[in-house]
Amino acid sequence: METIIKGIDGVEEAAEVIKRGGLVAFPTETVYGLGGNALDPEVARRIYAAKGRPSDNPLIVHVSSAEEAEPLVSVLSETARRLMSRFWPGPLTLVLPKSERVPYETTGGLDTVALRCPENKCTLEFIRACGLPIAGPSANTSGKPSPTEARHVYEDLQGRIEMILDDGEASIGVESTILDLSGETPTLLRPGAVTAAELESALGRSVVIDPAVLSGSVGEGVHPKAPGMKYRHYAPKAKMTLVTTAFLREKDFRVAESERVREDERIADFINEETEISVKAGNRVGILCCRETEELYRTGYGNIKVDIKLLGSREDPLSMTHTLFRLLREFDADAVDEIFAESYPERGVGFALMNRLRKASGMREELLTEEE
Ligand code: AMP
Ligand code: MG
Repeated sequence: METIIKGIDGVEEAAEVIKRGGLVAFPTETVYGLGGNALDPEVARRIYAAKGRPSDNPLIVHVSSAEEAEPLVSVLSETARRLMSRFWPGPLTLVLPKSERVPYETTGGLDTVALRCPENKCTLEFIRACGLPIAGPSANTSGKPSPTEARHVYEDLQGRIEMILDDGEASIGVESTILDLSGETPTLLRPGAVTAAELESALGRSVVIDPAVLSGSVGEGVHPKAPGMKYRHYAPKAKMTLVTTAFLREKDFRVAESERVREDERIADFINEETEISVKAGNRVGILCCRETEELYRTGYGNIKVDIKLLGSREDPLSMTHTLFRLLREFDADAVDEIFAESYPERGVGFALMNRLRKASGMREELLTEEE
């Protein structure tokens, strides 16, 4: 099969492909999705096969309005309605009890369905033109960083899907926030651009963070609520280590500028030393840092260059989520063997950023303790 790439003028054609039971990768404000008719079990099977994804890992279903979500759930609570009207269209996925219309193939065998209404104009036009709810996991090969550009989708899925709708770079760059409303307490299953604090203020009550979000992985025999959490994710090919200091962690990064400068230098000194050792051992080394710290890193050793990549500004976490997955893919393309990355405050969108960095590093962290 030849995968064709079309710009946003290809929306109608893309909708025809979906209506015929085909697969179309589509842009959203979070990452590109791998779309197909969410009501067709055969299509769900094709999506899992195209991604190489285990079929117990359920798919998010995309709708173009809250009204379209109604027939897909068995009960639509007041709480769910409130969140939909406050955050949709936008990067919030709600897990709700499913109705009989949604096949178990789409929900990975669960009695709940994950629903989202994305924000992109092109995406909404596409869903409306299909006239169907669209199952859409991220359009990457399972385990690879999610795609934030059409060419990432092409790299991973060419020849396995009919079409890619190209609407440029995804603005947010990390996947949606997932909130489970199917139990007693609203539970955050995945952090994203809609923050826990925003959800709490809309709900007027606190939100529980699923333990699997905090640990980044799950122990043996534990069944996480978002089955996706048990699989390795977002991983570059290189070994990646996240670096922070005990002092920054303890103060939650709320430190005076002079202290911040000192801690930045300690982190950079550590990374520079480790980089030198790794380079001498014959490795190609990458460093993931931010605009504010870039100058602290040594760019090369002899004629060997260090692959330094900038996430954006740490004053603006969205500028960092926007670039993260593209940079992880670039490290792969550069055949980097080892990556050192800085840590950032986990407040607001920073929580989603750090969650993805932890997963990308396979939870490998270096915590620098106080000097003697
Ligand atoms: P992706 O589609 O790649 O963004 O991944 C979707 C994520 O949503 C995965 O981690 C799934 O496990 C999670 N998810 C989808 N449906 C449900 C559901 N019904 N209950 C809990 N988690 C879900
Ligand atoms: Mg995914």
